[in-house]
Amino acid sequence: MSLFDVAVIGGGIAGAAAALTVAAAGRSVLVIGPQGEAGDRPGEFLSPAANALLAELGLAERIAAGPHRVANATYAAWAAPVLAQRNAITHTEGPGRVLDRRAFERSLTAAVTDAGIPRLGILLAGAERDGALWRLTLDDGTERAARFLIDVSGRAAVVARRFVRRRRADRLVAACDFLAQKTDDVEPTPATLIEAAAEGWWYATLLPDRRMGLAFFSDPDRLPRGLSRDPARWRTMLAETEWTARWLDSAGYRIDGAPRLASAGTTWLERAAGEGWAAAGDAAAAFDPLSSHGLTSALWGGRRAGQGALATLDGDPGPLERYAATLDEAVRQFLSQRRAVYGEVRRFADRPFWNRRH
Ligand SMILES: Cc1cc2nc3c(=O)[nH]c(=O)nc-3n(C[C@H](O)[C@H](O)[C@H](O)COP(=O)(O)OP(=O)(O)OC[C@H]3O[C@@H](n4cnc5c(N)ncnc54)[C@H](O)[C@@H]3O)c2cc1C
Repeated sequence: MSLFDVAVIGGGIAGAAAALTVAAAGRSVLVIGPQGEAGDRPGEFLSPAANALLAELGLAERIAAGPHRVANATYAAWAAPVLAQRNAITHTEGPGRVLDRRAFERSLTAAVTDAGIPRLGILLAGAERDGALWRLTLDDGTERAARFLIDVSGRAAVVARRFVRRRRADRLVAACDFLAQKTDDVEPTPATLIEAAAEGWWYATLLPDRRMGLAFFSDPDRLPRGLSRDPARWRTMLAETEWTARWLDSAGYRIDGAPRLASAGTTWLERAAGEGWAAAGDAAAAFDPLSSHGLTSALWGGRRAGQGALATLDGDPGPLERYAATLDEAVRQFLSQRRAVYGEVRRFADRPFWNRRH
């Protein structure tokens, strides 16, 4: 059975950051996890704070050369029922980006391959501690061994959740859609629009390929039953918005099908590291997308977990302990910011979605 210094469970964003960090230090690393997801995936706003991390990981040029667009304008009808613009052109950390999410993930996968890191494109089926080693069983029944394990398997947290409790602040769910433009006559504004509504909030953003990413965030019990099979109901919900429908309609975007539902709640592990393991990205802490820092947090966490693994293998547990403590503090700060931001919306204060968050 082949033995690696570090096994990275999950080939997403945090997984790429962790694997690149470990490989750059000359340690052997194996990535276990399927390559990319079938179909479109929501999550395209990359915060300016990611720029420094991309540079640290040697990814800045790859991403700058990609088909992504600079995120300049965000409009929000949040605290008051009027549109306010937030202009990000002069951001000191460099621009935020609206990503072509698939191209972004392909760039990270290519960087992992170019670094000579082996990858098994299958799921992990089991992980057992065997003395100082991890014995890993893959979906095809074969086994591998590793000295350290980094769980970056997204919200599933397939290994870490066996060791520590996963806590949750809410059950936020996103109804997501990707709309094609039905006319060539209108040049759509490259912008993002956020709009508070009685049962949740809307998010629309012009994607680099000229499609419109559209999502409605709510609680499972506040969404119409069967929405994921009901395009007509989805159309009606959009039509009832004050600003989003007007923008999409004037730019020639129409709903064709029903939305896909995705978990979007804030959940986190009570501790992001333990003996011989660390978790990062959504596996360690998944944030309400209103924060727009899930991708940045995945890059940051993957890198810090990778550095923590390297130090642990060299006999120094300090960096891993500091990583877990920093993440814990970040979750606490996020929970208080989340309350403040939702608390700005008083006009729906009597509605369950908002009431639960005030
Ligand atoms: C609706 C929505 C909108 C969002 N919008 C934004 C946004 O605008 N900006 C932003 O920054 N963030 C956003 N996010 C959050 C962002 O998408 C996530 O935080 C980010 O994808 C986390 O990356 P990750 O690498 O931790 O996990 P993932 O990207 O989920 O990767 C986990 C990987 O683990 C693999 N895996 C799972 N189980 C196993 C197993 N048993 N064995 C091996 N591999 C396994 C999966 O196949 C996957 O490839 C949004 C999230 C949602 C739900």
